[in-house]
Amino acid sequence: MVLADGVSKSFGSNEVLKSISLEVKRGEVMCLVGPSGSGKSTFLRLINHLEILSAGRLSVDGDLVGYREHGGKLYELKPKEAAMQRRDIGMVFQRFNLFPHMTALENVMEAPIRVKGQSKAEVRKRALDLLARVGLAERADYYPAHLSGGQQQRVAIARALAMDPKLMLFDEPTSALDPELVGEVLDVMKELATSGMTMIVVTHEMGFAREVADSLVFMDGGVVVESGDPRDVLSNPQHERTKAFLSKVL
Ligand code: ADP
Ligand code: MG
Repeated sequence: MVLADGVSKSFGSNEVLKSISLEVKRGEVMCLVGPSGSGKSTFLRLINHLEILSAGRLSVDGDLVGYREHGGKLYELKPKEAAMQRRDIGMVFQRFNLFPHMTALENVMEAPIRVKGQSKAEVRKRALDLLARVGLAERADYYPAHLSGGQQQRVAIARALAMDPKLMLFDEPTSALDPELVGEVLDVMKELATSGMTMIVVTHEMGFAREVADSLVFMDGGVVVESGDPRDVLSNPQHERTKAFLSKVL
């Protein structure tokens, strides 16, 4: 579903991703962990066309996102093609980014109505189903300001699912939450993983990684330091940098 081959990204002279190669198969969950500034968000943003790669090859579901040989010509999708590809990718951020002037239901209905041209009744029914799926059937008519952080994040997940994505990207979805609200969001993500969704999850929740992820990738300084089965990496890290990081978050 996601194939990165030698993906690099620089901002000016700052090379924040240095030849990242990794693969996420359909239906797999990959957890991406590493210290702040290691390039995790930048990697997700490349997948979702929020940044343009500097070198390497990146594809989603067999479709090229971007390709460039070092110093060579950039091959990237035309804006229309990129927009089409982005429709198939759901993204959930640390901050919930809900529209404050819309109810939970309206937030979930917004993109499909705007983009897909389905009837309002159809979209509404599906949005209510999605809110029920994230445990918020009773909160459909609430505005974000009247929902807890965990509830808002679950609405954000339902909103991303409303576009029927084939890939979900999560960028520290529970980092901004009070500790007692983290579990309800992770539970929704677990259910999503069990249903077969392909997911890349940037998180510091190692319990989630151990229990749910098919692979764990530890990044530091823009490189993949080590990766593998989460249980192996967590219980038997091979690199000093991994050990040092895990000793802080476990
Ligand atoms: P992480 O998510 O692992 O904390 P990021 O991908 O956000 O790391 O950032 C990696 C590095 O890239 C940081 O040094 C950050 O300052 C830099 N960076 C990220 N986005 C930009 C940008 N738009 N312009 C310049 N530098 C950026
Ligand atoms: Mg980040």
